[in-house]
Amino acid sequence: MRAFNFSAGPATLPTEVLEQVQEELLDWRGHGLSVMELSHRGPEFMGILAQAETDLRDLLEIPENYRVIFCQEGASAHWDMIPLNLLQGRSRADYIETGYWSYRAIEEARRYCQVNIAASNRSDQFCAVPLLQDWRLDPNAAYVHYCSNETIDGLEFHWIPETGAVPLVVDMSSHFLSRPVPVGRFGMIYAGAQKNIGPAGLSLVIIRDDLLQPATPGTPFLMSYHGQVLANSMLNTPPTFTIWVASLVFQWIKRQGGLAAMEVRNREKSDLFYAALDRSGFYRSAVKRSDRSRMNIPFHLRDPALDEKFLKEAEANHLLQLRGHRVVGGMRASIYNAMPLEGVQALLAFMADFERRYG
Ligand code: PMP
Repeated sequence: MRAFNFSAGPATLPTEVLEQVQEELLDWRGHGLSVMELSHRGPEFMGILAQAETDLRDLLEIPENYRVIFCQEGASAHWDMIPLNLLQGRSRADYIETGYWSYRAIEEARRYCQVNIAASNRSDQFCAVPLLQDWRLDPNAAYVHYCSNETIDGLEFHWIPETGAVPLVVDMSSHFLSRPVPVGRFGMIYAGAQKNIGPAGLSLVIIRDDLLQPATPGTPFLMSYHGQVLANSMLNTPPTFTIWVASLVFQWIKRQGGLAAMEVRNREKSDLFYAALDRSGFYRSAVKRSDRSRMNIPFHLRDPALDEKFLKEAEANHLLQLRGHRVVGGMRASIYNAMPLEGVQALLAFMADFERRYG
């Protein structure tokens, strides 16, 4: 029986990509060595990096005046790098609080500047995106930061905030490449790799040219976006293997029909899932319908005493890593790009059967 991995990250990768990795692992394109053993400054790896950027640009239709950085740091490092690089002498920044990850960014930013929490859904238990009309944006803020898909809380922005002249900075880690995005609406987009991009060990930054200024004096050299762009993401040895796998994932997405096709599949999978949750009195989703994530679906069993039994039986049915994050409990099904429709169908069939037996 085929196994399906619902982990939030490191997450399931397309089987086709893993097979390609396996095939080429010992002998990359007939060069007689593994891609892991290529010099990062040699023409072969430089070719891989350039192709990865070209494919990413194609997929997202990234405008000419934006640079792409392949960063060795995880998404968390950007919570420091953003203020260090974007404050540019200003003392204030706006942050939107919508759940666990946006809050982590806020905590970190407080080390560098006065953080204005321009909107928060804390009083709604992080179950609904705050309405734009209630945001108290500061026109003198250096930037506005938000997280467009809260991986733990299961909340997704299905719209893009309008922030006027203040650059919009977004953590897209957990729904990057899940649908088309008008990059030109953002000052900067960042995303960790281990969901829709590839294995852990990489994050991507897409940043508008005019925001690329030298970082605050004293910033570690690896944390300067300006420096990384000048060095073509090679201020030091980049995670070459991870970048290669990411490049294979980009090509896989292109073969699927690009981001518009990904969106159709992701809608289909998540619509099916939420319809099943809404029909059932046994399982429930706490998130407001209009703000539900198409990637990360947290849900609870009516009787939490059944949680361990559910997880054990799911695993016996090859439905893996469904335990919810420790801060919210319950279950979470992450259904990123690489999760096939059959995986969602298999999980829903198991859930219906479990409900019949214990409901
Ligand atoms: N932001 C979001 C939305 C995330 O989901 C995660 C990790 N799951 C992070 C940031 C942190 O990423 P990393 O562990 O790569 O630093």
